Amino acid sequence: MKLSVGIKNIISKVSKNLKWIGNDLLFSTGIVNPKLPKSGNCILVYHGIDDGNTKRVNAKFISEKDLKSQLYWLKTRANILSTEQIFNESNHDNGFNIAITFDDGFANNHKYLLPIVEELEIPITVFVTTIQLKNENYLWPDAVDLFSISGPETIKFKGENYHKRKNEYVNKHHGRLKSVITSGGYKSAKEALVLMGFDEEALQNFPSVLWRMMDASELQKLAQSPFITIGSHGVCHDSFVKLSADELQVEIVNSKKYLEDVTGNTIDQIAYPYGHYNDQIIDAIEATGYKFQFRVDLQKQHNALDKRVMTRLGINPFISWGNQVKAIGNGKY
Ligand SMILES: [Zn+2]
Repeated sequence: MKLSVGIKNIISKVSKNLKWIGNDLLFSTGIVNPKLPKSGNCILVYHGIDDGNTKRVNAKFISEKDLKSQLYWLKTRANILSTEQIFNESNHDNGFNIAITFDDGFANNHKYLLPIVEELEIPITVFVTTIQLKNENYLWPDAVDLFSISGPETIKFKGENYHKRKNEYVNKHHGRLKSVITSGGYKSAKEALVLMGFDEEALQNFPSVLWRMMDASELQKLAQSPFITIGSHGVCHDSFVKLSADELQVEIVNSKKYLEDVTGNTIDQIAYPYGHYNDQIIDAIEATGYKFQFRVDLQKQHNALDKRVMTRLGINPFISWGNQVKAIGNGKY
């Protein structure tokens, strides 16, 4: 029997959920405890941090309390290394090695992450989207999530009608507006946001912890910490694979320059927005002076051998810590 991709996805999702439920049952007995393998390494991705009382709009957030307990758990059971150390395979003696990264450059990283890192004394790399170059202090993917809540019931974008379903705009074929915008990037998002009732004043109605990016002085304070390395995450949070060669240059060169000007440090690490990349992008980024590149998923098998790029695992806020630890150990969900 030949199964369609859709059915296969559903089956794999259900079996994954069953596996997680089974693991949680085992953990709840106390006989089996979550633990990391004796060796190996994993690079984790976090995004935003809040006080735990915010009504969150996407899966990017973790509370300050949960973050602290997760990092403490990892610190006491694994070697927390810098991303550069993981890349260079230095200090890989005994045990499981972990590097911690944060994407996007939320102002809440300055507020909540900096004190935790100073207290636990662990290295962290923060990949910053330099949207300040556009004189803006928010990223369009976050604005789209927020205005999908407050926007009108129906909007018409590029000739297609979208209606709201569970705080998301979808068309009659269940196609998501956000996917369409992600393909079109920053410019396309700006057009859609206007239809959704967005303006910078209306944005202020939402808690700033959910959208505000670091300004130059916050970024400087982060960069001054001996535990924090700053890397680039582009300028506009556009998917690199959707850009022309010239547009890609703007993203990787201008973000690097801005970060170097503000921090006074050499910026030689970059994480692709959404983890999207291809062979041309890897070459173009290397030619611009970056030494370390980070994806999320492996795109093509031959990329596994490419020493310029490493894979990261995004933290899943919807599963138990026990299941998260298992995923960290396996390097995948
Ligand atoms: Zn991002």
